[in-house]
Amino acid sequence: MAQILDGKLVAQKTRERLRREVAELAEEGIVPGLAVVLVGNDVGSQVYVRNKTRACEELGIRSWQYNLPEDTAQAALLELIEKLNADPEVHGILVQSPLPAQIDESLVTNYIRPEKDVDAFHPFNVGRIMLGDYTYLPCTPAGIMEILREYGIDPAGKHCVVVGRSHIVGRPMSMLMLHANATVTICHSHTRDLASHTRQADILVAAVGRERFITADMVGEGAVVIDVGMNRDAEGKLCGDVDFAGVEPKVSAITPVPGGVGPMTITELLQNTVTAAKILSKKAENP
Ligand code: NDP
Repeated sequence: MAQILDGKLVAQKTRERLRREVAELAEEGIVPGLAVVLVGNDVGSQVYVRNKTRACEELGIRSWQYNLPEDTAQAALLELIEKLNADPEVHGILVQSPLPAQIDESLVTNYIRPEKDVDAFHPFNVGRIMLGDYTYLPCTPAGIMEILREYGIDPAGKHCVVVGRSHIVGRPMSMLMLHANATVTICHSHTRDLASHTRQADILVAAVGRERFITADMVGEGAVVIDVGMNRDAEGKLCGDVDFAGVEPKVSAITPVPGGVGPMTITELLQNTVTAAKILSKKAENP
């Protein structure tokens, strides 16, 4: 039977540490603050944003939520970001995606001050991740590395196969694995004979966005499987990119969905907000 990599447990432990750090900062009059901007009425985004602000409150991080209408002009959004960039009480800024069509998402990302870019999507921060010299990491890949660390799974020398090359998950994940001295293969929708690659993985990361896409015949005996997917099946049930029931008996360790990678993503956002508060209040160097 595979070891279940319990992201909920790792998240709890990390949040306890962050709670202590927030309390220490409070003694010096510093309250980490996160501004979350939501444009439009996307139901999924509303749930994500609510979860993020609630998680902040639980830790003593101040949060502000800006709900802008669907037809918000790009200039108005940029104006708000400019205001948040200049506000000393705001340490982190997050603009929830997806954004409506009239708004250029990359322009918005580039507008956020890199020191307040707690999503780590700004090109400056992306470049630093490439160099292996970073302050902020994108939340999902950072959370995955934390789970592996917590369970004593060292990627060094192992073959890590990442399925998916998105800017928010697949690419940064591959880079972090490389920094951790894994040998990395990145697969995507143009990869030929995907299973021949995934079967070779010591660590397989599935970030595809297709329900139960990775089946038992696509994984090797004893692999470690990280399931990033968050999909709804035909019955509306939350499920991953991995066919858990089929794959679990074959592998040495696996993250469940829910309760695997998901809880770590918000936790790493909290981590980045605390880091930003330290940097902007000069409690930490911005190396
Ligand atoms: P994207 O849709 O941005 O990227 C999906 C990637 O999968 C693309 O690189 C795409 O390739 C690749 N892909 C699609 N079909 C295939 C295929 N048949 N074979 C091989 N590769 C394929 O998704 P995200 O990276 O944003 O998210 C992936 C999943 O993770 C989603 O289910 C999302 O909901 C979930 N997610 C979960 C989070 C969490 O906290 N647990 C956080 C973020 C995302 P190509 O580039 O060629 O199109």
